[in-house]
Amino acid sequence: MFKNPDSVREAVRAFKPYAPGLSIDEIAEKYGLSRVIKMASNENPLGMSPLAVEAIQRAAAEGFRYAQSGNPRLARAVAEYHGVDVSQVVLGNGSDEVIDLLVRCRAEAGRDNIVVNRPCFSLYPMQTKLCGVELREVPLNADFSFNWQGLLEQTDGNTALVFITTPDNPTGYCPPVAEVEDFAKNIAAKAPGALLVVDEAYMDLSGDEKAHSLLPKLNSFPNVAILRTFSKSFGLAGLRIGYGIMPANLADYLCRVRLPFSVNLMAEAAGIAALQDKEFLRLTKETVASGRVVLSDGLHALGCRPVPSQANFLIFRLPEDCKLDTEQVFTALLERGVIIRQVKSYGLPDYLRVSVGNPDENRVFLKELAEILN
Ligand SMILES: *Cc1c(COP(=O)(O)O)cnc(C)c1O
Repeated sequence: MFKNPDSVREAVRAFKPYAPGLSIDEIAEKYGLSRVIKMASNENPLGMSPLAVEAIQRAAAEGFRYAQSGNPRLARAVAEYHGVDVSQVVLGNGSDEVIDLLVRCRAEAGRDNIVVNRPCFSLYPMQTKLCGVELREVPLNADFSFNWQGLLEQTDGNTALVFITTPDNPTGYCPPVAEVEDFAKNIAAKAPGALLVVDEAYMDLSGDEKAHSLLPKLNSFPNVAILRTFSKSFGLAGLRIGYGIMPANLADYLCRVRLPFSVNLMAEAAGIAALQDKEFLRLTKETVASGRVVLSDGLHALGCRPVPSQANFLIFRLPEDCKLDTEQVFTALLERGVIIRQVKSYGLPDYLRVSVGNPDENRVFLKELAEILN
């Protein structure tokens, strides 16, 4: 029985919204700065592919039209790019939407459970809780590697989904693909109905996809879905396109349930163009790989303790003898126009996360941090 017309479900009342990185505009205004750099949300340090920009400009005049339902051209382009069948591809308004669809399509509230690492990408626990589904969290090992045994122990006949992220966010850790394969097989043996979701949002920035990605072998694993996104290596975060590659039967259900037109006309055009821009992707990979070394070396030189990362960001602790805490360093960087990310919401209050920027941004970040620490 409803008492009030404006009341909401218990899970909605308890919901803690996603904590996004701060925006350039809000920091520029708050501190009266003319130049602010953002190294907080793992966006592409080179911006957008010029081919994608052109494609958007061409598509702009068609903005009064709905995109073709289901975005079949983009789905085909994604399928071709990865060498999978188009029936396995589910596009979404960011891979966030595919995560949401997976939870809503697979998990029955009050009966099923979802297994995740702790810490993990916050969308998995958020959508799980919003749907009233039991969340089972397995702490990472002390070195941020995965507790495979612990994850397996938590997985049972009512497990709808097991989420892992490789390379992991926020740690940058990336397990060898052989470990992921063993885990997928062990899950299939113990809980034949469970789906393992491998979120590879950062995989093409890992430096060695062969050593880390399950995607080339996906069709030998009928209990696995892989998530990828246009937000990071392809530089289209603001346009919102991500996708899942999964068993065709499941993909079909997600596509039926998905809101019509969730991937818009401009995003679709940009996505198709971005997949063709091999040069931009190559440059992005090169910039991220070299920037990661610059940041890691620079942080070490300042006495900070970065964690090895296979992604376009890394987390680090401050020097052992540092008189400032992470909150103070984070704020001091903001005042100097450098936005990075606190990861206390991930349960890592002693760490800060910085995204790899372009060479200029990396230099400014290290210079400002050095001044703050001295
Ligand atoms: C950035 C990110 C995504 C991608 O999100 P989009 O909705 O596609 O922008 C997915 N998973 C992880 C772990 C991420 O860090």
